[in-house]
Amino acid sequence: MSPDQTGAKAPLHGPELSTKPGDRVDVCVIGAGVSGLRAAQRLTERGLAVHVLEARDRVGGRTMGGLLCGEAVDLGGQWVGPGQTRVLALCDELGLDTYPQYAEGRRLMEIDGRVRGYTGTVPRMSLLGLADAGLAMRSLNRAARSIDPAAPWDAPDAAIWDRITMDQWMRRHLHTRGARSLMKIIARAIYTCEPHEISMLCVLGSIAGAGSIEIQAEVHGEGAQHSRIRGGAFQIAARLADRLAPGALTLNAPVHAVEQSETGVLVRHAGGALTADRLIVALPPALAAGIHFQPALPPARLQLQARMPMGSVIKALVAYERPFWRDRGWSGEAIGEQGPFGPVADATPPGSPHGFLVGFFVGEHGRAFAGLPETARRDAAVRSLCRYFGDEAAMPIGYVDKNWIADPWSQGGYAGFTAPGTLTACGRALRVPRGRIHWAGAETATRWIGYIDGAVAAGERAAEEVAELLPPVPRE
Ligand SMILES: Cc1cc2nc3c(=O)[nH]c(=O)nc-3n(C[C@H](O)[C@H](O)[C@H](O)COP(=O)(O)OP(=O)(O)OC[C@H]3O[C@@H](n4cnc5c(N)ncnc54)[C@H](O)[C@@H]3O)c2cc1C
Repeated sequence: MSPDQTGAKAPLHGPELSTKPGDRVDVCVIGAGVSGLRAAQRLTERGLAVHVLEARDRVGGRTMGGLLCGEAVDLGGQWVGPGQTRVLALCDELGLDTYPQYAEGRRLMEIDGRVRGYTGTVPRMSLLGLADAGLAMRSLNRAARSIDPAAPWDAPDAAIWDRITMDQWMRRHLHTRGARSLMKIIARAIYTCEPHEISMLCVLGSIAGAGSIEIQAEVHGEGAQHSRIRGGAFQIAARLADRLAPGALTLNAPVHAVEQSETGVLVRHAGGALTADRLIVALPPALAAGIHFQPALPPARLQLQARMPMGSVIKALVAYERPFWRDRGWSGEAIGEQGPFGPVADATPPGSPHGFLVGFFVGEHGRAFAGLPETARRDAAVRSLCRYFGDEAAMPIGYVDKNWIADPWSQGGYAGFTAPGTLTACGRALRVPRGRIHWAGAETATRWIGYIDGAVAAGERAAEEVAELLPPVPRE
């Protein structure tokens, strides 16, 4: 590697820092989320010396376990769909089983203060509203088909779509109130932001990466919410971490600086420093922005990191004595524009005597509740559930939530998104290695961008990139 390729001029070791010989590894990975751990596990299997540095006191990142009425629950990513081949293959590999999301019965939608039951993806509304929503979804899918999700900025109409927000698109393409409400709800549920915050090109890239907007929104068929992982999706990270070499993971080690030279990369973290031949940064771009890179990253990458915020989400689970909604013929799914709690779905663990509902405070509702105490969120969630499901929802026996917006090591979720102008200006910098530095994380995926599946695929891709550049490890 020439100095020009690394762009490095500074010496590797700063004068105040001495690294022991044992602190040198082939590959350092920053971030013990699913993406970083998948990359680390793959490289470990190839016989390389790998070390993972994680800021938190746990692995899993945006997947995380919690407890509700003594049962394990997912407080972060949880659903997987039939088209998500990477995460499903990984579950197989790790001995994790999936089961279908409970979705029998009617769904509920609150519109104009009235709750109505419906089946199918589109709720009952006026014929005009139905036609309007149906046409809009068709038009979104058609536009997404012209996009390569690996490079949305290269689409023929990329400049046009990256100039407008989803809200502007909705104003142009939707003519009825019902259809506008529905699309707003779908946008919040999928992208965890308000339609006026997200670039239409970002939306279409996300749809292209999943296959269709229906697949993103659905539980049934090919839907992204089709299945759950028995025991919890948070186990993926724990099991990957178990496959690393002993001592190859350091928790409570936030990385604050990276110095790159002709001979390696020095990674400075809260507990010391580590040198490596290659570095994989498995963080959302917004979190990578918190690390000081020397020499500086290219301008497009710096801009991308500064211009790709995280969505706004708080996830909560509410427990009841029984899943009373099932007796009424309801699936437990509920949506509504008013919020603040929703979308909602059944989250009862298989075999549990109790009934659990899971829901989200998203977009502006997430931000409104992020600074409030948990009791305020609990009361608000229960009030929303009472509007959807009636008075039986008023007597929960348990509540747990995870405020992702307030967590400094995620700064929101589900994923990073872009406002107009960002993808066309600096999206190309998402995956381009900078000398010895490679990028992973769900945001760099080329399919299922921002999903667990994308995190897995991105980790695998980054591991491949690095493995090709390092000398092969001789087999015994
Ligand atoms: C509430 C919620 C619900 C979701 N639901 C779903 C779902 O149902 N299905 C689905 O497919 N996806 C879902 N997602 C998205 C999915 O969880 C993520 O896309 C995926 O887990 C991201 O993995 P990752 O490894 O790319 O990033 P992360 O999980 O964010 O991992 C990055 C890691 O880096 C660490 N870190 C950050 N900064 C530093 C630093 N400076 N030094 C060291 N370490 C650092 C973090 O602590 C973290 O552990 C959801 C996300 C959230 C938040």
